[in-house]
Amino acid sequence: MLTDLDNPMTDENKKQPLMMPLAMAQSVTEATESTTQSQNKIEIKDFTLYYGKFKALGNINLSIPTNKITAIIGPSGCGKSTLLRSLNRMNDLVPNVRTEGQILLDDEDLYVSGVDVVDIRRRVGMVFQRPNPFPKSIYDNVTYGPHLYGIRRKYELDEMVENALRQAALWDEVKDKLHQSGMALSGGQQQRLCIARALAVEPEVILMDEPASALDPVATLKIEELMQSLKETYTIIIVTHNMQQAARVSDLTAFMMIDNPQNRTGKLVEYGPTIQIFTNPKLQQTEDYVTGRFG
Ligand code: ADP
Repeated sequence: MLTDLDNPMTDENKKQPLMMPLAMAQSVTEATESTTQSQNKIEIKDFTLYYGKFKALGNINLSIPTNKITAIIGPSGCGKSTLLRSLNRMNDLVPNVRTEGQILLDDEDLYVSGVDVVDIRRRVGMVFQRPNPFPKSIYDNVTYGPHLYGIRRKYELDEMVENALRQAALWDEVKDKLHQSGMALSGGQQQRLCIARALAVEPEVILMDEPASALDPVATLKIEELMQSLKETYTIIIVTHNMQQAARVSDLTAFMMIDNPQNRTGKLVEYGPTIQIFTNPKLQQTEDYVTGRFG
């Protein structure tokens, strides 16, 4: 069933700027300051990505601040997921990918030779659209990463499991059934288990690719609340097609589009504090998209 949460462009709010909660309006100054003052966790500089001959991303420049939620929005096919996956070199898994430019994580370029890609993927974790727990127990799902990194002592693993599940707001629901299958949980619980699995290796950044699009509205709100608590510790970047969700959860919003229908190259159109992008965008293209006039 489609709900307003899934499809924000109902007749009622079509062509109206999305209304911001007061708390969000008050955070404008904070969000603006974050782009100018606080240290950026990630700097994307003139980044271009080709799938074979197809230029999927063209000259993207974006600064992602520490301990904030940055949303990437834009029509389907404009390169949002490609950009997100570039942030932990997940695109390396696709044959014939070539990149130009830089992506700096704490000033370290992820795309120079000799970079430890396994370590990058530990530091920059990822949560996918569909909850994808392993067909293992809840406990084994969370300890999977720590195990790979050589942690074997039971008391250490026990502590990691509890910490990660608490941070993912799942501990109270599963603490008495840690050895039951992760696949037996509800969709929303499975997604929080996947978040716990990502947290267990102590990342610094969490990438979320439409993390709630397969969930019902109640489970969606739980994930959104969870994101607010996680940003105190982590830097979060979320791709979402749901503009109300971007408006609710993010501090900053990056709007992408294809350059033109012939080349279909994804470009960054506008980036700024979420309140500004949704209520007072600088560019007509952004306004047309956030008010539902196209896309
Ligand atoms: P979005 O997330 O905005 O929907 P994507 O990043 O998934 O966009 O895709 C951007 C463009 O790159 C699209 O034209 C898509 O067809 C293309 N693309 C995505 N993944 C691949 C791939 N593995 N190989 C070739 N082209 C791809």
